[in-house]
Amino acid sequence: MERFFLELEPPAEAMRQWPHVVIVGGGFAGLKACHAFARQSVRVTLIDKRNFNLFQPLLYQVASGLVSEADVASPLRQMVGHAPNVQILLGEVTDIDPEAREVVFNNQRYGYDQLILASGSGSTYFGREEWRPLAPPMKILEHADEIRRRLLMALEEAEQTPDPQRRRFLQTVVVVGAGPAGCELAGSLIELMHRAVQHEFKQLSQHDCSVILVDVVDRVLPTMAEPLGAAAARYLEAAGVELRLGAKVEAIAPGRVRLGGATGEQELEAATICWTAGVRASRLGRLLAERSGCPVDRGGRLVVEPDFSIPGHPEIRAVGDLCAYAHTPDARPLPGMAGPAVQMGGWVARDILARLQGNTSTPFRWLDLGSMAVIGPWYAVADLRGWHVTGLPGWIFWALAHLAFIPDTENRIALFSKWMWQIATRQRTALLITGRPDQHIGVDVGLYRAPRDEEWPGGDGQDDASQIQAVA
Ligand SMILES: Cc1cc2nc3c(=O)[nH]c(=O)nc-3n(C[C@H](O)[C@H](O)[C@H](O)COP(=O)(O)OP(=O)(O)OC[C@H]3O[C@@H](n4cnc5c(N)ncnc54)[C@H](O)[C@@H]3O)c2cc1C
Repeated sequence: MERFFLELEPPAEAMRQWPHVVIVGGGFAGLKACHAFARQSVRVTLIDKRNFNLFQPLLYQVASGLVSEADVASPLRQMVGHAPNVQILLGEVTDIDPEAREVVFNNQRYGYDQLILASGSGSTYFGREEWRPLAPPMKILEHADEIRRRLLMALEEAEQTPDPQRRRFLQTVVVVGAGPAGCELAGSLIELMHRAVQHEFKQLSQHDCSVILVDVVDRVLPTMAEPLGAAAARYLEAAGVELRLGAKVEAIAPGRVRLGGATGEQELEAATICWTAGVRASRLGRLLAERSGCPVDRGGRLVVEPDFSIPGHPEIRAVGDLCAYAHTPDARPLPGMAGPAVQMGGWVARDILARLQGNTSTPFRWLDLGSMAVIGPWYAVADLRGWHVTGLPGWIFWALAHLAFIPDTENRIALFSKWMWQIATRQRTALLITGRPDQHIGVDVGLYRAPRDEEWPGGDGQDDASQIQAVA
């Protein structure tokens, strides 16, 4: 098989001799690698099943109507499509043949000299996939839309409901998972509900609004330093979020969550239930493990060599959330976060270029930039390599870091202006109920009922827009 650029003639004759690098996934890691390859002597094909790069850390802002979809997503063609040596192809890679050096997507086999897998991670329900339609995760744009639609439709129904008990049910949200995404979502949803109910709904009372944050661990933000978790918990409780910590989700049914664990059995009733509790590497990890014998860890991540290659295949690298990289001073795998993903993508691209020129590159060293979570307007907690910052200074660090990381200047400007507008007016700009009104899935919360016996595709750590389906 000849390895042409897109299996067509390359636009320039000189390119025919250049090695062909295929990058699967245009997220944090893949996009960074692509930028590093732009205008270098390699042919690059970037394959992604979506036509945009998604800034996942701000998904909670879409879910809570602070910003809209396009503010957190950037079309890949506009990001890297202008480089003469980069081609972008839309499609889902469904198989990899390491011996033939080919990937399969859109039912075609496609050759590579170097392969960078950066397909990220999805959500997991720890074997309880039937919970997925009842408690959507927050990994892709459609999930954030769905959470927003469920909450807003529940509030709309509450405004028309004479029964006070039913109104309280409709005004209750359960968020499972008290990591950064869960805390951010819970803090933003309670703010949204209090504000909307106070000013824009005539029949609803702020006292009936409830956001309950549940985690099996006995504190919030368990991956951050204890004082920061405590500060976040205090802020959330003061804002009106109820914490149910040390509580394990035993069952989820339409509008109900049963908890067990250290705190004893209890049942929560909530019209809107969200799931931010589990992450699992994309299915390409396990697929490549089957095809190549590369080990995977419990989260389905490929256990990679110091240069991110997989054993026996120096031409295949796995980066970002897809890999377990434990070549660190304390031998602990790097966290599944945007910072490491960007650094890995950039390093691997530079390493490939150096090797092609017969050079060696310095070993990968992760620069820990810290972690942070924004819990409310003007309030964030930040762990900057042991330096703990909370409140307004934390929010300033959070805002600057996120603006710096956003890969698109237009989005940077849009986000900054929307944050300022929201802080000045307390108004949210993206509170639209979009999609078909009967698009609710699996739970009877809205003005329209969903069938109960709906079937859902089995989850396997991969989040697909197809899992948000219209109920006809
Ligand atoms: C709600 C939420 C909040 C977060 N908050 C933070 C935060 O505050 N700070 C932080 O550092 N990190 C945060 N993270 C984690 C961070 O977003 C991830 O670690 C990061 O996105 C990983 O980058 P990646 O390049 O490995 O994968 P991704 O950015 O997920 O990109 C993967 C890409 O691969 C594509 N893809 C997947 N499978 C295929 C396939 N088979 N074929 C073709 N394309 C495919 C996808 O469409 C996607 O574009 C958050 C994550 C979530 C979900």
